[in-house]
Amino acid sequence: MDHDDLHKWSKRAADWAHAYHKGLCDQPVRAPLVRGAIADQLQKSPPEKAETIEKVFADFESIVPGGLTHWQHPRFFAYFPANAAPASMLAEQLANAIAAQGMIWQTSPVATEMEEVVVDWLRQALGLPDDFTGTIHDTATTATLCAVLTMREAALDWQGLTKGMSGAPRITVYCSAETHSSVDKAARLSGIGQDNLIKMPTDENHGMRPDALAKAIADDRAAGAVPAGVVLCAGGTSIGAFDGIRECIQVAKDAGLPVHVDAAWAGSAMICPEYRELWDGAEGADSVVFNPHKWLGAQFDCSVQFLRDPNPQIRTLGLRPVFLETLNSDEPTNFNEWTIPLGRRFRALKLWFLVRIHGLEDLRLRIRNHVTWAQELCAKIRTIECVEITTKPSLSLFTFALQSDDETEALFNRINDDGRIYLTQTRHEGRFVIRVQVGQFDCTRNDVMMVETVVRELMQ
Ligand SMILES: *Cc1c(COP(=O)(O)O)cnc(C)c1O
Repeated sequence: MDHDDLHKWSKRAADWAHAYHKGLCDQPVRAPLVRGAIADQLQKSPPEKAETIEKVFADFESIVPGGLTHWQHPRFFAYFPANAAPASMLAEQLANAIAAQGMIWQTSPVATEMEEVVVDWLRQALGLPDDFTGTIHDTATTATLCAVLTMREAALDWQGLTKGMSGAPRITVYCSAETHSSVDKAARLSGIGQDNLIKMPTDENHGMRPDALAKAIADDRAAGAVPAGVVLCAGGTSIGAFDGIRECIQVAKDAGLPVHVDAAWAGSAMICPEYRELWDGAEGADSVVFNPHKWLGAQFDCSVQFLRDPNPQIRTLGLRPVFLETLNSDEPTNFNEWTIPLGRRFRALKLWFLVRIHGLEDLRLRIRNHVTWAQELCAKIRTIECVEITTKPSLSLFTFALQSDDETEALFNRINDDGRIYLTQTRHEGRFVIRVQVGQFDCTRNDVMMVETVVRELMQ
């Protein structure tokens, strides 16, 4: 296969993609879940002899769709969205065609310089102060790990990097019980340890209790530990919980600790000024992560971390061997020094396309619609007999349940086997509950109201 073949087959691929997306609404949202059904259709050994592109493409068309859960389906209400606006898909096609590796500025200046510009666009769009800079990571998990590693090193006066953790004092980090498991992963991988990630009790709004935070930090210090930082939750994955960002940041500041805010999902909604009160005080954080690849519409993967001062993170993560030096240049931004991998995809391009082709106005309109429709849907579900709303909408996410876990789970399985909509579960206050989140880029009000129809029908 050469570039002439690529030229021809990328047009075939575009035709396939067009038909795929047009036909989505007639497909069940979730893949049939039969273990091994796809693997059974694949050759067990790699071919010794070249196969034709015709044959490979035909197999793609016959095998792959059968194993897909359709994340771009307009009635995907599971997890959180992984939206891919067509504008961002087009940019990804171009980034794919260019196939540049933007590890340092000089390996493609446009990748770094466009990243600096679009991250600043998003900073403005979210209403964060102009002394924040930032970078693009693959995922929020990586961004949070980077933030926690930086907390660790600042607490150890950058000794952990060279001496390791074995002789280090006990480092502690604080978060609420509603924070995402990526914070647990960061505690584990950073060598801080799961047991030293202190989960604060939450109040009646499921936010971290600032008084408990202050006490925990003081108690740990008194016991000889070294508190290193606080991770706050702005829109938790389970039920969309928000910590009281302003109060908790004040407690952290008083204790001299840095704060990382995880707004992976809800951050996108902050392009709408009316939702910003939910994370009131976020401008006081040292680090904020949000995923444009979730609600905003940038094709996966694309996670933006804003940093008040990037230097502590660069000091923690940056290495510059001679072969990565840029000669004859003033100090360029080398984004690999802000994050974990050396190699970097050209992710800024899809943000540049997305924001320009839609404009913030249209992106806001979509998010506002999702929030409005989620509230309307929740009000309708509430009227179904035997259904209880277990958590009311946080932006566009709410949960419901039936009386017993067994009944809820049985209904849940009927809904997802039916295929018209797709929902996922969580556990809230000990109960098995069903999550509904509205956020698919192209969903309509009718798509959202289908949830009520399906639940009513399958309650029978
Ligand atoms: C989705 C999510 C994450 C993890 O996101 P990845 O980008 O997949 O690592 C972390 N925190 C919250 C609140 C999330 O919703």
